[in-house]
Amino acid sequence: MTIFSYEQFRAPFSLKGTLDRGLIDRVYAACKNANVWGCHAIRGGYFYKCPQIMYAAKLTGISETTDRIPIVENDTFQAALLDYANSSTPPSACAFCTRTVGIQQPLTQLPREHLLAQIEKSLEENVDHDWLDRSLMIKDARDDCKILNRFK
Ligand code: SF4
Repeated sequence: MTIFSYEQFRAPFSLKGTLDRGLIDRVYAACKNANVWGCHAIRGGYFYKCPQIMYAAKLTGISETTDRIPIVENDTFQAALLDYANSSTPPSACAFCTRTVGIQQPLTQLPREHLLAQIEKSLEENVDHDWLDRSLMIKDARDDCKILNRFK
């Protein structure tokens, strides 16, 4: 049996976001959700590169319509899906999301009333800049917050 535990997690969301295109490109390029783990989502007949696109739209009011593709039954869908999934263009949600490069924080149950204070930050404040640099240099598929416990 293999059990994984988490003592830390990476801050995933920044309500204030950023206008720094270079930072957005780097966060996206390092994002394991979209580029390594294949953590995609489907909702309402659309395919999303990551579930965070839906949450960012809900929390910030940005449009999600350019960040998803309709699932259709035709001869061109497979090519469209591959183009979308492999595109080097970040979804707009990346301006607000630090999914796998956020600063590390202790894993605790956050009281609901503290949530806003937790996410009301800029992307620059929420990024673990050393980890971002490292993630772009070393393509490591592991989740660095995940601790492996093995039992026999
Ligand atoms: S929105 Fe977040 S999870 Fe989705 S691709 Fe951008 S950084 Fe990754």
